[in-house]
Amino acid sequence: MFNFFWRKKKSTFTGGIILDGHKQVTKINTPQLPKELIYPLFLTSDRYTKACVKVGDYVKKGQVIAIADSLLSTPIHAASSGIISSIEKRLIAHPSGLADDCIILQTDGLDSALEAEPCLDYRQQSRDFLRKKIHQAGIVGLGGAAFPTAKKLSGSPAIHTLIINAAECEPYISCDESLAIASAKEIIQGSLIIQHILQASLCIIAIEDSKPDAYLALLFAAKETDIKIQKVPSIYPTGGEKQLIQVLSGEQIPPQKLVFEYGYICQNIATSFAVYQAVLLGIPLTERVITVTGAGIKQAQNIQAKIGTPIKDLVQFCQGYTEHAQQLIMGGPMMGIALASDEIAVIKASNCLLIEPIKASAIQPCIRCGDCAKVCPSELLPQQLYWYSRSQQWDNCTDYNLADCIECGCCDVVCPSKIPLVQSFRIAKSEISQQQKQAEQAALAKKRFENQQQRKLRIEQEKAVLLEKRKATIEKMKAAAAQRKLN
Ligand code: SF4
Ligand code: SF4
Repeated sequence: MFNFFWRKKKSTFTGGIILDGHKQVTKINTPQLPKELIYPLFLTSDRYTKACVKVGDYVKKGQVIAIADSLLSTPIHAASSGIISSIEKRLIAHPSGLADDCIILQTDGLDSALEAEPCLDYRQQSRDFLRKKIHQAGIVGLGGAAFPTAKKLSGSPAIHTLIINAAECEPYISCDESLAIASAKEIIQGSLIIQHILQASLCIIAIEDSKPDAYLALLFAAKETDIKIQKVPSIYPTGGEKQLIQVLSGEQIPPQKLVFEYGYICQNIATSFAVYQAVLLGIPLTERVITVTGAGIKQAQNIQAKIGTPIKDLVQFCQGYTEHAQQLIMGGPMMGIALASDEIAVIKASNCLLIEPIKASAIQPCIRCGDCAKVCPSELLPQQLYWYSRSQQWDNCTDYNLADCIECGCCDVVCPSKIPLVQSFRIAKSEISQQQKQAEQAALAKKRFENQQQRKLRIEQEKAVLLEKRKATIEKMKAAAAQRKLN
């Protein structure tokens, strides 16, 4: 699929490859208002939202239309004004081509917004207040993972270093780079807010050395602050959390450990921008910058898109498809997911739409060349993991640290046998997580049953004691009555 180069010398993390960038850093363009906005209630397999509007309701831009059903979820806000026309099943951005409940908003063309509630004196506010504001603004990590930001900022261990990830190491994607050039000042403001919430002594913005304009823009914007702007080598996947920490600090976070346990938190640069908007302007997350690119689109560009915009509208804004358009990928070529249709809407995690020809190649048996292990940035053994995944040996997958696979796709790219390694890892991870959930639920049910039994036993014991007491009282009364008779 790609031209790639082996790394000539070891830099600061093991593995990785050098890829052609294919990046077209355009200015950020804004399309016309879509007639229809689509909001899936499904966020991820364990994160849902619940509609809080009904068909026929009029909503304004910035109004909450779906509430979070847990702390791991975030609310959804309308990105424009209009009428809720239906809540129905539509195709959503999911690798299985899933259809799920979506709120459909017919826009009225006015784009009228709720009054914003800015908080200019954020340093005077409690950290809890700011986290709540970020949660209420519906902010998630905009680098693609979409993990709720407020939840990420509420970790109990002390954080010493906040890393703002502007590496954007995956080919084709340039939305963060364009945003950094256009809004460096706002990104610095957002980063300062996050640093304040975490009380982190150090904040570093890490950017690849192949992005000089964005680097200079950030450097200039940060000059009055203590934020450090640090160039990192353009090696894929420098932007992985653990890889970035190793590049910046030399510290290697062990397998199966989380970075916050070691005092680090990484946030994407676009998330910093969203935090700036939520706190200092009082605007919730309703839009994001998305790269629309690839050989299958006529005019590749970066677009300021409303969340909920149907992809076909963005394609139209880019002058339509070329004859090479055969597959639609949400995300980049290495980590993105293939979409079933362009009727699917832009979601918060959509950093890129890649439209490409399909380059099919026949899968051959593994020749045990070991190339996949050489490039793995997580120091795994992909060929071994592939074998265990295929044969459903989940315990072995766990023992061989499958959980540490960041699904970067380096192993896929170098594999001479064209084995779809990452695909099998994704399936295995989802199976393992399903099994873990079932085991947790079974353990919970067992605990509940045991508690119930203990409660029953306690009540029976209390009843027996009471009965004994009553019997004793009756006996006493009988004895007293007999005594009175005798007297
Ligand atoms: S996809 Fe996973 S196994 Fe493959 S190189 Fe990346 S981290 Fe390693
Ligand atoms: S790169 Fe492909 S062929 Fe080589 S060991 Fe890994 S899976 Fe096997």
